Amino acid sequence: MYDLVVVGSGPAGAMCAREAAVRGLHVILIEKERIPRNKLCGGALSPRIMDTVDFDISKAVQHEVHCAVIHAPPSQRIEIIREDVRAFTVKRDEFDALLVDEARKEGVEVVDDIKVLSVEQLKTGIRVLSHGDSFKGHLLVGADGVNSIVARSTGIRRKWGSDRIALCIAADIPFSPSEVQQLFSIDADSNRLALEIYLWAVEYGYGWCFPRQDEISLGIGYKMKHGVRNLRAAWKAFVHRFEKEKGVEIDTSGQKAHRIPLARLDSRLVARRTMLVGDAAGLVSPITGEGIYYAIRSGIIAGQVAYESVRDKNPLRIKEYERRLGQALGTEFSAANFVSNRIYKSSRNVNLICEMAENDSTLQDYIVDLALGIRSINRIRFDIAKHMLRHYPRKALKLLR
Ligand SMILES: Cc1cc2nc3c(=O)[nH]c(=O)nc-3n(C[C@H](O)[C@H](O)[C@H](O)COP(=O)(O)OP(=O)(O)OC[C@H]3O[C@@H](n4cnc5c(N)ncnc54)[C@H](O)[C@@H]3O)c2cc1C
Repeated sequence: MYDLVVVGSGPAGAMCAREAAVRGLHVILIEKERIPRNKLCGGALSPRIMDTVDFDISKAVQHEVHCAVIHAPPSQRIEIIREDVRAFTVKRDEFDALLVDEARKEGVEVVDDIKVLSVEQLKTGIRVLSHGDSFKGHLLVGADGVNSIVARSTGIRRKWGSDRIALCIAADIPFSPSEVQQLFSIDADSNRLALEIYLWAVEYGYGWCFPRQDEISLGIGYKMKHGVRNLRAAWKAFVHRFEKEKGVEIDTSGQKAHRIPLARLDSRLVARRTMLVGDAAGLVSPITGEGIYYAIRSGIIAGQVAYESVRDKNPLRIKEYERRLGQALGTEFSAANFVSNRIYKSSRNVNLICEMAENDSTLQDYIVDLALGIRSINRIRFDIAKHMLRHYPRKALKLLR
């Protein structure tokens, strides 16, 4: 019998398993794919990831990035250079495998190619079942992503409301390193690369293009709250315009669609002996779609609570996970929802923000700080509102209305 069974070896599961093992628990991590497994993702990491993990992840970093280019409708281009800010890009197969390796080093037993099919409640624990195998534990963590079988099987959540989901289509497209440099360099002298955001790509969302060493991540996504629209048509139009503007041909044969669960901390994340973390808990920024940082944060908190619960022989102590997660991320997520509802309310709002930011470096800095979590979003949203009201009162009032 394990102290803790973790289902899903993404950033949330690997970090949860590692944290619990560091503290002395006997932990198994179960993954349905073969590790390393790829995951459809932009693979952009915000700077705070570096302070959140206590081991070196630089091996998995593809590019360190200090610049962003925002392409706004109809053909506005806003370049932001922040030498003081370091964001990163990674390939998810490499990055996630590194986290799993770190978990292994701490004694976590890792089994892959095993798909968990259901969860059973026992008198003194839980049992997860797959084809032919079963694993018993005192506690269970569901780190199995947006379609979490753990959430459904334990009854914590049957399905997502449409207001919690963003839909994406994306592809990793191979390019040579020199082509990547050419595509993303914002100046020929320093070869500085940028994360590119395309606000014209789709209504109620955005498109992105992020550089890796020998490929790019190209994708679009939008909030489903405003109804389902033809994502494939928007994707085709986006790729077409991207090809024309960059003068390249894009092979989209590897394209995939995916759902992203947007954060709101008002739903249940704990049931008898079970906690949900990362995407399984719906912890993705409704502004940017960033989820890796929140997966790692929630995984670490759940690992700590699992340890305390086993130490105290008190399974009810896992309730503490919801409280600590709320304390760590609750204010951030409610501020993020407020901001996201303003930005993605209409394309008029996106245009207003871009008009204000176009030649305003203070506002551009605020936007970067907000998007990359450099300062508390709760404070920065008031700074942004004050700045807009002082310098662009009419536009600001339209936006905040
Ligand atoms: C198109 C797209 C682009 C994105 N871009 C970014 C970005 O640039 N930056 C960012 O921070 N975030 C991004 N995200 C969000 C980010 O990918 C997720 O928030 C993050 O992967 C969540 O990590 P996780 O560990 O919770 O879940 P996942 O990474 O989804 O891992 C879940 C794991 O559980 C396994 N699993 C599932 N079911 C079972 C089962 N039944 N049995 C066993 N194992 C199972 C899966 O195989 C998987 O390995 C993006 C998401 C999408 C869809």
